[in-house]
Amino acid sequence: MTDCVFCKIVAKQIPATVVFEDGDTLAFMDIGQVNPGHVLVAAKAHCENVYALDDAQAGAVFRAVARVARAVRAAFAPPGLSIYQANGKPAGQTVFHFHVHLVPRHDGDGMNLTWPVKNPPREKLEEYAAKIRGALG
Ligand SMILES: [Zn+2]
Repeated sequence: MTDCVFCKIVAKQIPATVVFEDGDTLAFMDIGQVNPGHVLVAAKAHCENVYALDDAQAGAVFRAVARVARAVRAAFAPPGLSIYQANGKPAGQTVFHFHVHLVPRHDGDGMNLTWPVKNPPREKLEEYAAKIRGALG
């Protein structure tokens, strides 16, 4: 996609600090660096979100995520690591080219995610699961 910043990074038209690359993925330092060692793993092909990934791309991206996560842990020894991936504006997506954040975490680092649990009854869980199973095909 010609106006996509991550496609331009993949095409080397915009500089990035790359840590890993294979045929399907590119991992590079997030310029924002929430904490030192914050890496983005992106699909090389333009895919807007998780829904656009085919099975091979999904496998490749998550292999790269696990591999780079192990390297970040070895390099920075953070006491925690968050993996964050957003699809759509309400989820916080700002670059509409599929990518996964690997964020080294430390106590009191200021990164917060609210998790407003609803604890629905088991019958609701069964109802929700049936919808998803039906959609899996
Ligand atoms: Zn793109």
